[in-house]
Amino acid sequence: MNQTALTAAARLLDKRLDELGRVTDEPGRLTRTFLSPAMERANSLIGGWMREAGLTVREDETGNLIGRLESPAPGARTLLLGSHLDTVRNAGRFDGALGVLLPIVALAELKERGVTLPYHVEILGFSEEEAVRFTGAYIGSKAYTGRLRQSDLKLKDARNHTLLEVIEAHAGQRYSPPKAAHRSSELLGYLEVHIEQGPVLEAKKLAVGVVSAIASQTRGRLTFRGKAGHAGTTPMDLRRDALAGAAEFILFAEAFAGARPPLVATVGTINVPGSAANVIPGEVVVSLDVRHPSDATCAAAVAELVRQAQRTARRRQLACEWHPTMQHEATPCSVPLTTQLARSVRAVQGTSLPLVSGAGHDAVIMAKLTPVAMLFVRCRNGLSHHPDEYASPKDLEVALQVVVDFLLRLSTKS
Ligand SMILES: [Zn+2]
Repeated sequence: MNQTALTAAARLLDKRLDELGRVTDEPGRLTRTFLSPAMERANSLIGGWMREAGLTVREDETGNLIGRLESPAPGARTLLLGSHLDTVRNAGRFDGALGVLLPIVALAELKERGVTLPYHVEILGFSEEEAVRFTGAYIGSKAYTGRLRQSDLKLKDARNHTLLEVIEAHAGQRYSPPKAAHRSSELLGYLEVHIEQGPVLEAKKLAVGVVSAIASQTRGRLTFRGKAGHAGTTPMDLRRDALAGAAEFILFAEAFAGARPPLVATVGTINVPGSAANVIPGEVVVSLDVRHPSDATCAAAVAELVRQAQRTARRRQLACEWHPTMQHEATPCSVPLTTQLARSVRAVQGTSLPLVSGAGHDAVIMAKLTPVAMLFVRCRNGLSHHPDEYASPKDLEVALQVVVDFLLRLSTKS
C-alpha cells in the first residue's frame, strides 16, 4: 500500500472514531451500554461501513455485531478481529471502538488493492465488555464463544431486569445461550487492536507494541487490628496503632513490587472505621491488588506480601487477616501469532516492544476458543476511560499499516 493511500485511510479511521464517539445514550458525553438505543445506532452505523468494505453483516441475540468476508479459497479457515463497542460512562472514543473500526478500514484497503485473502475474516464488535450495565463483564465475547452461563443470565441491572429478560426483550424471542459461533479447528486466531491504556509506549516513544500476556490478577482485603485509644493519654510505647501498621505495609508493598518488574502491587483503598483525629486507629482495612503475567509469580508475590503484612502486624502487636476477593488467571498470547505480529511491527516501526496488559480485554475470553494476539496503540498520557483519551492520526496510521502487513503475511502462511 502506498503511503498516501494509507494516510487517507488513517484519516478516514480517525473521522469514523469521531463519528462513532458521538453515538451516545447520554447527551454531552459518551456512554454506550449493553443493548441500549445508542448501541443499536452504533451497530447500524458500523454495519454500513462493514458492507461498504464488502462484508456481510449480522447481529446475534446479545447485540454482537458480526461482519464476515468470505474467501473463495477451498478449505479456508477464519481469522477473527475485533473488540468491544460498549463504553464506560463518560468514555473516550478509542477504547474498544478502535479494535472494530481499524480492521474494517484495513479490509477496505485490501479490497481497493484487489487483494483476495486465502482465509475468511470475521470482524467482531462485542456488545459488552465494560461491566457497566451488568456487573459481570464480557457478555458479548462469552456469548460468541458459547461461554455464557445460566448464572450470568441471572445478573440484574440497576432497574432490576435480569440479563435474560433484557436479551429476550431485544431479540423478541426466548433465548438460551448458543454454542460457540465456530469450532476451534475452523479458526486461525483472534487479533485485538486496543489503545494501551497505560504510559509505557509513550515513555518508549513508540506508536505500537505487541502484548505478550494479559496479566494474572489477585485482589483482596487486609484487615489490621490493634487497640483504639485516646490520642492524648496513651504514650507512644503503649500503642497498638493499626493504621501505622498498615502504612508500614503499604510502603513495603510498593518497594517489593518496584524491585520485581513487571510485578505491580497497589493499595488503592484505606478504610478506618470510626476514625477521628483524636483516636488511635484500632482497625484498618486496606485493599491489595497484585498483577503479573505469570500465575505462579503472582500467587507467590501475594503470599509473600501477606506474610510480610502478618510479620509487621506481629512486631507491632496487631492482628492481621487476609480475605482474597477476586482472582483472574493470566492469559498468555499465542506465540506463533504474536511472533507474526511482531514481525509486522518491526517492518513498520523498526522495533517491536513486548508489553504485558495489566487490564483485561475480550481477548481473555476469546483465548478459550482460539489463539489470540493483541496490538497496543500509544495513547496520550496513558489516559483512558476519560473523554480526553487520545491516539494521534499518525499512530493510527502505524497501527493500520501493521494490521494490513499482518493480514498479508498471514496470507502466505495460512
Ligand atoms: Zn477496552
